[in-house]
Amino acid sequence: MNVEVAGKKIAVRYVPLDSLGSYDHNAATICIDEKIKGTQLAVDTLLHELVHAAFGVTGMADALGDSLEEAVTVCVEQVYLPAARKLLTRLGEEC
Ligand SMILES: [Zn+2]
Repeated sequence: MNVEVAGKKIAVRYVPLDSLGSYDHNAATICIDEKIKGTQLAVDTLLHELVHAAFGVTGMADALGDSLEEAVTVCVEQVYLPAARKLLTRLGEEC
């Protein structure tokens, strides 16, 4: 599977990992631990790594630095995305 982020093709691979997921900017690849494939945790991990990819592609990752990038990524994944999902669901119900 591939996902396009700001025009850049990012490969998504399910592989054995010691963590849930990772994003490698130079390889343009998101890796998800194959043990969680098909679960909600895999979806959440993919969305988390997709945020890292967005920061990498736009150069924000370099500007933020590793620890701040992780904190902002977790905020986007765990706060922004759930709020956006709820809002889109409400808007869909109103249309
Ligand atoms: Zn992360």
